[in-house]
Amino acid sequence: MEQEQAVNSKDGFTKLGLNPKLVATLTQMGYEEPTPIQREAIPPLLEGRDLIGQAATGTGKTAAFALPMLQRLATNGKHRGRPSALILVPTRELAMQVAEAMHNYGQALKTTVIPIYGGQPFGQQQRMLARGVDVVVATPGRAVDHLRRKTMDLSGITMLALDEADEMLDMGFAEDLETILSETPADRQTVFFSATLPPRIAGMVKRHLKNPLRIEIAKERGAKGTVPKVRQTAYIIPRRQKLDVLGRVLDLENPASALIFCRTRIEVDDLTERLGARGYRAEALHGGITQDQRTRVIKRLRAGDIDLVVATDVAARGLDIEQLELVVNYDVPVSPDSYLHRIGRVGRAGREGVAITLADPRESRLLKLFERHTKGKIEIAQVPTVADLRARRLELTRLAIEEVIVEGGLDHFRVAVESLAQEHDLMEVALAAVKLAHSARGGDKEQEEEGEAAPAPRDDGRRGLEGPIARIYVGAGRVAGIRPQDLVGAITGEAGIRGDQVGSIEIADRFSIVELPEPMIDNVVNAMRKSLIKGKKVVIRRFVEKGRSS
Ligand code: AMP
Repeated sequence: MEQEQAVNSKDGFTKLGLNPKLVATLTQMGYEEPTPIQREAIPPLLEGRDLIGQAATGTGKTAAFALPMLQRLATNGKHRGRPSALILVPTRELAMQVAEAMHNYGQALKTTVIPIYGGQPFGQQQRMLARGVDVVVATPGRAVDHLRRKTMDLSGITMLALDEADEMLDMGFAEDLETILSETPADRQTVFFSATLPPRIAGMVKRHLKNPLRIEIAKERGAKGTVPKVRQTAYIIPRRQKLDVLGRVLDLENPASALIFCRTRIEVDDLTERLGARGYRAEALHGGITQDQRTRVIKRLRAGDIDLVVATDVAARGLDIEQLELVVNYDVPVSPDSYLHRIGRVGRAGREGVAITLADPRESRLLKLFERHTKGKIEIAQVPTVADLRARRLELTRLAIEEVIVEGGLDHFRVAVESLAQEHDLMEVALAAVKLAHSARGGDKEQEEEGEAAPAPRDDGRRGLEGPIARIYVGAGRVAGIRPQDLVGAITGEAGIRGDQVGSIEIADRFSIVELPEPMIDNVVNAMRKSLIKGKKVVIRRFVEKGRSS
């Protein structure tokens, strides 16, 4: 049952005390609700409290300290000439990322932000500092260099944030941090964010923070209720490879229906469009979608008219779709609870589901937290190569041929083989026949060009049917030990139709496709849904080929 809800992305952020301009920016960026760390950190930070937050990359921690910082700057007034806020980060890459995020969040408030890091000419940074900025995002080493040269004045700092404090200590910045902290006014507001809290950090907190509030994401330990039976896999890949890897994963897993999670509305729309362009039948679900549209999308997924739904966490809440076989976290969930909730969409009714997470190397720390929370194992897998996919397609052709041999009734073709064998080696003849069969199955096409989620069923030589035909999808295949005779047996036994009315059968790893006379389809689907195949309940639905609308 769907718990229908109108999602208003503004509410969550407004409730935290953020001002309308910031909330409007977040809505525009496609954020639908605050992440747990934001929910906990933003209100006390807005009040001016010091805070120590334990949170890894991927939890939304940057916005957790950036948003209150921007709002307080806007309310309390900025200095002219001197920076009012300083953010220290361990690496140049992070300095650029955080400065960009700050800039984006602060656009409506006209906040100026610059990154300061090693490797960039001093002169350029000096000129920017001299011109006057509100927020400086700096690596500790370069910040100290500017202090020594007196090219940066920290006497106006009212807010200071240390991002990834543990990393900075590991990189040997302890002394630099102390120097910088001592150059800022003692009455500043101070925030530390760190993935871990080793004793050295505790020491710094004691020295530099005033009565700090401590929050941690890992607190949500220990899942409540039952943990779903789900095979969990993660691929650690850079962001830019995600779409490509998603395509390969879908090809390999071959799900009848899958739910793909993104963080923001904008990402959902963008991915849905890209998947569409690659030939997948995907639809978007997010807070900006009307109730009617939502109902329609869910109906289409249930009926098998679409294969993929791309959704935000908010939109997927309360979604209960029996047929779902796969959940993909296109973006790492922001908390263990969110992970558990997402993967709980599959593996319903005792069936094993599959959950796949695409994580940036910097986000891999979160995976450990998810493992603890689900009391399960997340296997870190190698990205399937094009060669893997090719090998898999060839294996499918080999199995299809094997089935034809087992099936027998090949005498009809003997004349052709005998005549070819007079002039060619039998091995050559077989090779040519396999090549032909493989290309007829579409097996020689490149996935990147093709982008299909499921192979179109091909005639396996079983028998042809007269009149209009249609296909059913059966959610069990070779892996479950399904053979053609099992399907014929189940269909004739349950739906009361004759064996010769069952047409060609294709058995893939995780599903099978069976041809039947069109007028019998609904009857067969209904009867089969109530029955078991090899003792198990499996998904049965009408199979619609890609590119066809009926
Ligand atoms: P971080 O943990 O700060 O590295 O953030 C990880 C990613 O989450 C960034 O790409 C942010 O843009 C995104 N993000 C942060 N907060 C939210 C939110 N409330 N809703 C959606 N995405 C968010």
